[in-house]
Order: sequence, then C-alpha cells, then structure tokens
Amino acid sequence: MEESGSDPISHALSEESLDPANWEAMCSLGHRMVDDMIAYLRFVRDRPVWRRVPEDVKEHLRRPLPLDPQLPEEIYEDFLNYILPYPLGNIHPRFWGWVIGTGTPLGMFAELLAAGMNPNLAGANHVANYVERQVVDWCKEMLGYPRRASGLLVSGCSMANLVGLTVARNKMAGFNVRKDGLQGNRERIIFYTSAEAHTSVQKAVELLGLGSNSLRRVPVDEEFRIDLDALDTAISRDREEGHRPACVIGNAGTINTGAIDDLDGLADLCKEEGLWLHVDGAFGALAALSPELRPLVCGLERADSLAFDLHKWMYMPIEIGCALVRNERYHREAFSLIEGYLAHEERGLAGGAPWFHEYGPELTRGFRALKAWMSIREHGIKKYGRLIRQNVEQAGYLAGLVDEAAELERLAPVPLNIVCFRFVVDPKELDPDAINREIFHRLCEEGIAVPSYTTISGNYCLRVANTNHRSRREDFELLVQQVIRIGKDIIDGQEGKTEKT
Ligand SMILES: *Cc1c(COP(=O)(O)O)cnc(C)c1O
Repeated sequence: MEESGSDPISHALSEESLDPANWEAMCSLGHRMVDDMIAYLRFVRDRPVWRRVPEDVKEHLRRPLPLDPQLPEEIYEDFLNYILPYPLGNIHPRFWGWVIGTGTPLGMFAELLAAGMNPNLAGANHVANYVERQVVDWCKEMLGYPRRASGLLVSGCSMANLVGLTVARNKMAGFNVRKDGLQGNRERIIFYTSAEAHTSVQKAVELLGLGSNSLRRVPVDEEFRIDLDALDTAISRDREEGHRPACVIGNAGTINTGAIDDLDGLADLCKEEGLWLHVDGAFGALAALSPELRPLVCGLERADSLAFDLHKWMYMPIEIGCALVRNERYHREAFSLIEGYLAHEERGLAGGAPWFHEYGPELTRGFRALKAWMSIREHGIKKYGRLIRQNVEQAGYLAGLVDEAAELERLAPVPLNIVCFRFVVDPKELDPDAINREIFHRLCEEGIAVPSYTTISGNYCLRVANTNHRSRREDFELLVQQVIRIGKDIIDGQEGKTEKT
C-alpha cells in the first residue's frame, strides 16, 4: 500500500496555512499580550534597569531547531519567563547609555498594526506609500528643510548616512561611479569630517569604496566642534596634492559630547569650495523642534543631504531613521534601477511615483512610517520640542550636580543632552580609568542606572546621553549619589586589600 501522503488528491485535501486553527484562542492570547505589555511599560520604573541574562536562560536559547509545531500559548509563556525580564533597559527612566531612545505605548501598537497589514514599501500604488510620503514631508517641515527635497525612511542614521554619502560620492566624483566603479586610476575622492564623527560615517566611506584614508578627520576646538580653519587648510592641501575634495560631513550632536559644528560656517565653506555638505544629525538635528534650541542647529537646512533618527530623540520604537536629499534628481540617480519587472505604469497598482526603492539600496521595505505617522499626531511637534528641551535642561541639571560634588569632575562642556564626568581619585595612588570602569559595571549590575562610557582626551569617563522621555530630575540625583557611593565603596575595598597584604 502506498502512503496516503503521496496521493495527489489527499495532498489537495490537506492543504495547510499558517493561520491559527482556532482564531478565538489566538485573539485571547493577543489580548493577554496587550495587557502584559501595557503593564510592562506602565510599571517599568519599579524594575531594575538591567540584569544579567541567567545561565538557564542562555541554555534555553540554545535549544535545537523546532521541527514540529508548538503551542502559541507555550511559546508566549517562554517569552514571559526567558525573554521579557532581561532587556537592554532602554525603556527605563534611568537608562542613558549610548544614544538609544525609549519608545512609547502607541508606537508599540503602531508596530502591531504595521505588521498586521504587512505591506512592502518598495513602491507601487497603495496607501502605505502615501503615509511614508507624508511622514517624509513632515520631517522636512519640522526641520525647516526645503519642501522639494526627496527622502525616505530607513532603519537608522547609519543607513541614512550611507544613503546621503552615496549621493554625495556619485554627484561629486566627476565620472559615472555607478557604471565605471572606483577601479580606475583616478584622482582620489576626499571626504572631510571632524575627529568626533560617528563610526557610521567612516563605515559608509569604507562601504562606498573610498577607503578610510580618504576620510580626513579634522581636529576640533575646545568645545569639540570642527575647526573650520583646519578644514580649510586640509582642503587646500588636498587640492595641491592633486586629490579631489568632494564632501564635508558636519555633525549636529556628536556622539561623545553632543557638540554641534558651526553648520552655517560649514555651509558657507562648502558653497565657496564647491563641496557637498552632508549633516549627521542623528539626534542633534531634532533640537530644531524646540524654538529655544533651534538656533544651535541653524544651517542644518542648507545641507545637501541630512541624516537623522526618529528612534532616538523622537522616542519612537526602534528602528526608524530618515535620509533627506536636497536635490531629488541626484538622489534618484544614485539608486534608481528599473527593469521590466519593476516598471511603473500610468495607472492601477503599478502606478504612483516615486517608488521608494529608487531612493535607497533596499527593495523590500517595511511600514515603519506608520509608527511615525501615529506618534507625530499623538503628541504634536510642540510637545516633542518641549521634551527635547526638558532632556537638555535635565542634562544641565546633572552637569550642575556634578560640578557641585567634590568627588566628581566633568570632562566636557554640555551643549546639548550629553554629560561626561567621572569620579575623582588621586592618580598617584589609584587608576582613575579602572575605578570609573568599575563604577559603570556596578551601576548596571546593581540595576540602578545605565550610563555608558567613553574616553575624552584619553580619559575614561561615564557618559550620560539623555534621550529619555521618562527621566525625572530625581533620577539624576540618584545617579550622582550612587556614583559617589560606589566610588567610595571601591576605594574602601581597595584600601582594605592593601592593608591586608
Ligand atoms: C546613533 C548615531 C548614528 C547611527 O545611527 P543608528 O540609528 O544607530 O544607525 C550616527 N551618528 C550619530 C551622531 C549617532 O548618535
């Protein structure tokens, strides 16, 4: 007897899908998830910011590849037990590590709705593309960027930098890079940025085939802003040596200290020298939403391309960033590649221009626009402006607490929302870098707060980057108290040790 599985008719009778056999059960599971996640957000302040992933959880996450179905209810139980309790911590009011946003409840639901519709925003004529176009238009308007500019939403500012710098390279190369590539023996294309630029800028330059030696890291002044004279000199020197200066990358909010380059000065210089100006405004560009802070980033709107994030200082769920390009034609020329199966039609589903895949390297693109469209409407741009200003004022408050505390010292100015400081020890007796590194570890391991760290002028320090809409002044007071307490504990412990030996 043949097995029934090989009978074509029984195949037809047993056609499967991935939809639930029991829709009611899936629906009540979904309701539980919603209730649980709302409580998770609502009571986040009561939990430790971070905790170690325990061994049994790591063990659980090494289980073999599932070959047969498991019950959604059981999978969700495992999520509750093994995954949900061990987050990065960035939704917590005392998380200020790196630059990571906090998310919101409605943003979370928007992700649910977007995944439910599950459209592809490569192109074609469907409503999601109109939502993204509106969000991109809103982005231009809120930053004062020209209306005729083109743009698209991307995963984050790394990708937005790559998009902007690709357009810059192709426009400024002086030959057809898309066709001829960079293999020829030509003059060297040079990009410029400050010593404080983000790693994503260098990665983009590397990915573009220019090589990191073609990215000049120009020195900064005492406020960590690019030195315009040094930039000017570097450009002249490169021209004299027969290279091809092409693009300057300005910083609106550097990763280390939040420094903002003189963007108007950069725009003037680029105009004079005939160079492309790209601005990495990952979080700092959003200072433009606050009328009080806006002057800090003036000149931003003159950039040829602009990259920023909505998941950092607009607090939207990760991932969402935006790339804007002043000249739509240059933008499209850098990425558009249409063959028969992607051809646009005048009408119907294949109508509707532009198609977003013509503005970036990705074809299939998710509906990240929806969380932006819903969030911006929920809060309004004025409230975002107030929150950004609140974060800057909190950073100023923390800087004041640091300056008042004899045990602490600040290592950099605080032009925006980032504070770099450390616990002071006598370097003749103890290693300040090691002590402060230990303070960082204990703050996290005790679940108190998560700053991050960096080195300023060769000194390791704690670094608080505030893009957190949940933080309150008392959170910064607690941070300062605890840094001092832990610092003293460490020193007492070390003295104990030296006495014993
Ligand atoms: C975070 C950041 C980036 C990279 O953005 P992602 O969203 O992490 O890809 C680039 N530049 C600066 C200044 C940043 O802070």
